[in-house]
Amino acid sequence: MTGCVTIIGLGPGDPRLLTQAASEALAAAQDLIGYIPYVARVPERAGLTRHASDNRVEVDRARHALELAASGRRVAVVSGGDPGVFAMAAAVFEAVEAGDPAWARLTITVEPGITAMLAAAAKLGAPLGGDFCAMSLSDNLKPWDVILARLEAVLRADFVISLYNPISSARPWQLGKALGLAAEFRSGDTPVIFARAVSRPDEAIRILTLDRARETTADMATMVIIGASATRLITRGPGDQPYVYTPRSVSPA
Ligand code: SAH
Repeated sequence: MTGCVTIIGLGPGDPRLLTQAASEALAAAQDLIGYIPYVARVPERAGLTRHASDNRVEVDRARHALELAASGRRVAVVSGGDPGVFAMAAAVFEAVEAGDPAWARLTITVEPGITAMLAAAAKLGAPLGGDFCAMSLSDNLKPWDVILARLEAVLRADFVISLYNPISSARPWQLGKALGLAAEFRSGDTPVIFARAVSRPDEAIRILTLDRARETTADMATMVIIGASATRLITRGPGDQPYVYTPRSVSPA
């Protein structure tokens, strides 16, 4: 039996948002590799060996998966959301590129998942209706200067900006700096969304203005969406969350 690696997106949390293909790939696996909270989302069953790790070095986890596959095992590597969005898929290919040449001959398949940005947008209306971009605010893998330069470029270009990894205990100030930069380019009443634990039981969605967002804090389970100049709210009845949308049409300059 030839081993293989399937890199699987588990979606944002709600099991109903797991794709049928992802679910079939999980059912076919012999080994399950991933960060503890993601592995915990996959039910235990006979014939499935779980390798949950709190190791933050994703490439180490990827190498482990490739070693197991090279020894003939059917390995599933799991990520929350989509595995190609700031997650394990790139780590696996990085390990393949730098590792044993035999690893490049393994069959490596990626099963997509619903990424946090899309799950959050769907709860709000259509905030990503126009052009948008996704950035990770984490400076673990890239210098902070690069993040600021990219952020400034997309603010100038008037994209809606989805910020993944906005904050962690080791990175407490980056989100404030990013929103401060946003305030240099966008008006204080620009909608800014803090979407926490979308589709999980502890989901919390806050729609703020850029001015108020600058005084607000977030956590690792939150993603932040900064509206473009055209992003706006449609108010509803008392107590109802407004709809947030960005029109697709842009007037000629
Ligand atoms: N691969 C994941 C992203 C991993 S980066 C995906 O496609 O969604 C981790 C960051 O994703 C978190 O810090 C948070 O910003 C965001 N995130 C992941 N799941 C989320 C959820 N259910 N609700 C809100 N944000 C989430």
